[in-house]
Amino acid sequence: MKKVLMGNEAVAYSLFINGVNVAVGYPGTPSTEVIETLKNFQDDDFYVEWSTNEKVALEIAAGASLSGARTVATMKQVGLNVAADPLLSLSVVGVEGGLLVFVADDPGPHSSQTEQDTRNFARFCNLPVFDPSSPKEAFELIKPAFEISEKYKLPVLFRMTTRVCHSNQSIEFEFKREKRKIKGFEKKPDWVILPALSYKKHMELEQKLQDMKKELSAYNKVEGRGKIGIVSGGISYFYVKEAIKGFEDLFSILKITVVHPLDEGLVLEFAKDKQMLIFIEELDPVLEEEVKLILFENGKFIPTYGKRNGYVQFAGELDVDKVRDIFHKIFSDRRFLAKNTFTDVLQTPKRQAQLCAGCPHRSSFLIVKYAAKGQDVIFTGDIGCYTLGFAKPISTTDTCLCMGASITMAQGIKISDCSKKVIAFIGDSTFFHSGITGLVNSYYNRHNITICILDNLTTGMTGFQPHPGTGKKIYGKEGRKVSIESLVKGIGIEKILVIDPYLSFAENVDKVRKFLNDEELGVIVFRRECANLKSRESYFKINQNCSKCKVCLEVTGCPAIDEDENGKLFIDSTLCNGCGLCENFCRYSAIEKVMVK
Ligand code: SF4
Ligand code: SF4
Repeated sequence: MKKVLMGNEAVAYSLFINGVNVAVGYPGTPSTEVIETLKNFQDDDFYVEWSTNEKVALEIAAGASLSGARTVATMKQVGLNVAADPLLSLSVVGVEGGLLVFVADDPGPHSSQTEQDTRNFARFCNLPVFDPSSPKEAFELIKPAFEISEKYKLPVLFRMTTRVCHSNQSIEFEFKREKRKIKGFEKKPDWVILPALSYKKHMELEQKLQDMKKELSAYNKVEGRGKIGIVSGGISYFYVKEAIKGFEDLFSILKITVVHPLDEGLVLEFAKDKQMLIFIEELDPVLEEEVKLILFENGKFIPTYGKRNGYVQFAGELDVDKVRDIFHKIFSDRRFLAKNTFTDVLQTPKRQAQLCAGCPHRSSFLIVKYAAKGQDVIFTGDIGCYTLGFAKPISTTDTCLCMGASITMAQGIKISDCSKKVIAFIGDSTFFHSGITGLVNSYYNRHNITICILDNLTTGMTGFQPHPGTGKKIYGKEGRKVSIESLVKGIGIEKILVIDPYLSFAENVDKVRKFLNDEELGVIVFRRECANLKSRESYFKINQNCSKCKVCLEVTGCPAIDEDENGKLFIDSTLCNGCGLCENFCRYSAIEKVMVK
């Protein structure tokens, strides 16, 4: 069959065809579509789930792999930090069935708190890493990645970047699943990590990396015969190909797909007749450092141009124009390559990220903000939709670090600045991911903070995946529902309030104000499903009573409210989700409800 597949879909198809038995992950852009696609496939020897977090997912994958199953754990780059603990141990303990750790890096970053280069993690963990340049290449590399994992009994990192994850390509393949027999768990002393064994296995790991170098080198390739050498990989390889169009004879390219471990022989062969080497890669200078080390160790000196001498940017994404600019800088002759400005033409207007129109938690943030008015308050925020509590005019996010850190950072702030009230905001999925341990700590250590759990009954930002609080499993099948309130009570916290943010704003503000009055540890659960999950029953419009005061817009910042060229406010009926929040702030009764027929 021939199919146009997005990079992440291509990975999913290939995983399934190549007999993956267990696929687990935690949603995070740009990795989410791998599991989202895999969930469409069914077989009697195939299991897929969204796990509570990336560490949980990788540990499940590890258990299944020790039983001989082919497994994959998927995550985004920052999720790998959460899974770092089992990954580092697993590199020493080893695996049985092939285990791939699919990690999507986000240069830019487009939807992450940090840029992070997973190729460095591979070097840190001493594990092989594949870095495909296109959806088709990703599709083709899944099979050898499983085989390498099984041959050397090691997890293999499969790293892609946003542009490869989310670009589309036509791929021809036979949709036929490889059937494998899972042999079952076999007891072995190797599976128990102990200090003495760990040392022995570390030595073995180093040897395995040496042994696999030549074999993995087959996935790297040299193109062209020019005397100017370019070392590149991932999506940057295609930027290079485009940028040197018309000048191909001058260049040769070393395309590195398996970044670690890197075979010295190939690098030395490539470099032997080059006048210079140019390193084009996104994020960290991983290829540059690896290649330079090989050259140094072999007494070779060739002029080099890359990140380390300032020719290539360290942060953000590259594109064809940026790569052309790098060549202009190196050759100091702008005629050498014509500057193409097509990306300038394609530039779209910049807009501030905002909570959706009708998001129930726009109201939750404002309820707390109004209830805390007059008090000296610090708001700690978290990852996901509710990082957007930072945006004006909501402005109720003073910190945001990583998953779950709103609750723990709030405690740190309270310890060191106890005169202030500290209120933490966290989403429901994030709470299950990493918030629970922080909550236990605040109870145990008597940290008197207020924790607001903004429950929208889904994992909103990544595309509505279920989580333990929804009680639904990946296929929408019934799981067991974990009640946030029972969990909080089970820890021992008695001060709990549950609020529907769509109900009376004034009454909700009053309830929360009373709740904030004392300094006890307390949890407020704001619960209302994500506006995008349900078809709306009503929307609002602005009538002739409008005085153009703009209070509705200025207080809520709702993207459905806009102003025409005459300064007249209007509500875009196609965007409004009927939350009714803006109505609370209009003193002229100019905002009225319209029922959807
Ligand atoms: S316009 Fe008003 S009612 Fe509609 S979504 Fe925005 S705040 Fe809610
Ligand atoms: S708050 Fe009311 S009167 Fe003021 S701009 Fe909005 S709709 Fe018009």
